[in-house]
Amino acid sequence: MAIVTRFPPSPTGYLHLGGARTALFNYLLARKHGGRFILRIEDTDQARSTPEMTEAILEGMRWLGLEWDDGPYFQSERTALYNEYVDKLLETGHAYYCDCAPEAVEAMRERARAAGLKPKYDGRCRERGLGPGPGRVVRFKTPQSGKVVFEDMVKGTIAWDVTELDDFIVRRADGSPIYQLAVVVDDALMGVTHVLRGDDHQSNTPKQILLYQALDFPLPRFGHVPMILGPDKKKLSKRHGAMSVMAYKDMGFLPEAMVNYLARLGWAHGDDEIFCREELIAKFSVEGLGRSPSVFDLQKLTWVNSHHLKNATVERLTPPFVEQLALLGIRDPDEAFVRQVIPLYQPRAKTLREMAEAARSFFLPTEALSYDTKAIAAHLTSAARQHLQALSTRLATLEDFSIPSLEAAVGEYLNTVGQPFKAIAQPLRVALTGTTVSPGLFETMAVLGKARVLERLKCAIHLYPEEVSRGS
Ligand code: GLU
Repeated sequence: MAIVTRFPPSPTGYLHLGGARTALFNYLLARKHGGRFILRIEDTDQARSTPEMTEAILEGMRWLGLEWDDGPYFQSERTALYNEYVDKLLETGHAYYCDCAPEAVEAMRERARAAGLKPKYDGRCRERGLGPGPGRVVRFKTPQSGKVVFEDMVKGTIAWDVTELDDFIVRRADGSPIYQLAVVVDDALMGVTHVLRGDDHQSNTPKQILLYQALDFPLPRFGHVPMILGPDKKKLSKRHGAMSVMAYKDMGFLPEAMVNYLARLGWAHGDDEIFCREELIAKFSVEGLGRSPSVFDLQKLTWVNSHHLKNATVERLTPPFVEQLALLGIRDPDEAFVRQVIPLYQPRAKTLREMAEAARSFFLPTEALSYDTKAIAAHLTSAARQHLQALSTRLATLEDFSIPSLEAAVGEYLNTVGQPFKAIAQPLRVALTGTTVSPGLFETMAVLGKARVLERLKCAIHLYPEEVSRGS
């Protein structure tokens, strides 16, 4: 039997880390078995769902490369279908109309609470045989004794006493279906075989199983994944940092790193930490899903990211690097130049943001370079400026600006004046980049190219400490 999984977000917020991880597990399960992965937008809560949020969720899914095979379906377009099944429940005696006012139901619950019992609707309309009418909801007739038992793919056997449940609503008075009903009808009609979701939904599963049984639908397998916690072991929330997946894109994380890290949050394959997508698909199995909650760790995500950064090709990194530069105000840089700059920073950087910040000076016109005041005072001494001037004259006649040729030219100059490399290394670095930190000097010069190098030297030689920070 082909495996069919689904991701059914409610578009009431962005695609957050927990949702993305759920989507990923379902995606991996489907891909691993050559099955289908369905995307369904659960927008029955019209007041809280917005098209913008739907678009934001799709954007997050696309960024992570979680391609769906079917959908997106929209529950808001399927009301008639849900009603058919509510009618079926009514016809088969599995549901009934109820005209109790919400306040009356609340009062019942209150009384139960006061008596130390589980707050429940007391089922008073069960046998009244009411028909449709204004203000009437439809309730499911929950069996009055017995257990709902299921084999959870993650947690093992789970048993619920039905007396824990009440006659829950399946259709509101305004004719709209309740989540429990819609989700069951959709999963059954879409042929979903495996439902992997957060364990915040675990208490919904017995109700849904009862609905499956009442509607004569074959049951899917259920698996409930423990929540993601923050470092303080409380449920991950905004207090712990960015929740939206797309915020991590802006922070300079690669989607392949996000996917790798999210997969490891709650799933393990031995001690392996670094996975590419193909490996995740090949190695994923529900047996690897853990039973205890995992803790979100930004440092580890950053570590995973640096790994993927290092292993990526320059072609792969060019578009997201250009986007990061744009966030720093550098627009439309020359792509060939970008491809030369990336390898200078790629081996050391942890994020694309860090790479773009460090490499920013490469893309600034000389007049916009901002020099670090302390670096100028410390390194652009008058002796150093004389060296830079002399070196600049030599470099002006150098035709080949490759690393070996630059090394030879600088070496010759130092020989002539009897100076060690360190006499000019930092001054040169400050002159070329504005700071004392940069990739290898000769690589930097080769990538900057002759025109920029000469221009920057000229500018630095004439720069006085007071004159720093011109431009940005
Ligand atoms: N729309 C529900 C949610 O976003 C889906 C729950 C489920 O997977 O059944 O939490």
